Amino acid sequence: MKVYLIKTPEYQTENLIEVCDFLNSFDGTLEFIPSTYEFSEGEFNFLGNTYLKNFEGVKKVLYDNTMETPLSWEQQLSWEQLFSLCNHYRNLFKVEKNDFIVLLTLRNNVTNWFSHNDSTRNVFIQTANWENYIQVHHKYPVAYEVLENIMQSLMHVTSEVFPSQYIHQKPRGCMNDFCEDKEQIILKLQTANICVVCAEKIQEENIDQKIVNQTLEIFEGIRKELLFKQKFRKQVEPVSITINESRQIILPQLDNLEIRLNPLFKTLYIFYLKHTGGVKLNELNDFREELLALYKKLSGADNNNTIEVRIADLVNPIGGSFSQKKSKLNKIITDLLGEPLAKFYRIEGEPGEPFKINIPNNLIDIRY
Ligand SMILES: [Zn+2]
Repeated sequence: MKVYLIKTPEYQTENLIEVCDFLNSFDGTLEFIPSTYEFSEGEFNFLGNTYLKNFEGVKKVLYDNTMETPLSWEQQLSWEQLFSLCNHYRNLFKVEKNDFIVLLTLRNNVTNWFSHNDSTRNVFIQTANWENYIQVHHKYPVAYEVLENIMQSLMHVTSEVFPSQYIHQKPRGCMNDFCEDKEQIILKLQTANICVVCAEKIQEENIDQKIVNQTLEIFEGIRKELLFKQKFRKQVEPVSITINESRQIILPQLDNLEIRLNPLFKTLYIFYLKHTGGVKLNELNDFREELLALYKKLSGADNNNTIEVRIADLVNPIGGSFSQKKSKLNKIITDLLGEPLAKFYRIEGEPGEPFKINIPNNLIDIRY
């Protein structure tokens, strides 16, 4: 089943890709596809001039009683408007009706909900202001909301109907907690749980077990990364890094925290873990066969043209592919580990000099 991630103009493509990469770092049958499609403000004029980029400004206006009409009403979008964008995309690209379309937006919605889905597998998710509730990269709660809405849709549960035994107004640490008080969202992110009542409903609806497992694994992945942020905030010394038999990159001493990378980034990362002396960009081509073999293993594909092209692109010193991938990879590591720990795990170096990962050799354990 495919899940298309689309966006309103003010939400950056880069952020959308980060959310998508995170979701795709878990195995399963749901395939997340990032779209760079830009909606035209001419065609959808509600996307245009009423959007205020400065949220602090909006808040002040909201609480300023001297204003007769709060400006905020103008920049909120209705459900119809948000879902109309999903439908437009669905029609334009002939997306199958079983596939999901998830709209990511910084725009407020009239109900001030984190997210919502309609009966035709369209979803919108608010990507702004998460820092008011939780001090982590917004990709974690947003990724959670993606799965929550897919599951609710497959369960035929809607938060519009009250009371419902499947939408919990009193939080119990389940995916279907309503979170009327928005801070309650932290509880379900931290429990990564689906309660017994909802689990029974999932069985009743005969939802593909692979999708349920994938959802639970993503919830668990989010939980672990949030926990790491709380528990190991003061970690300043590097710890050992293991590539296990399943080719996961794990930090065993930090509760087995996983560095989740897509196959190409993982290829580059493991390559540098194996070459601790460092490799210059213009020397990478000499290691082409090694990189190819590694990428084939990690991507699970055989003799595939795309694989050859991607590696050729990566080792080409001209064109910036390497430095672009290196900086994205480094950003994932920095977002995950934070400073000062991240500096030991990034691939670093000056142009023209060898690039390397600065972890002592005795802390590297490659087991496959
Ligand atoms: Zn529940």
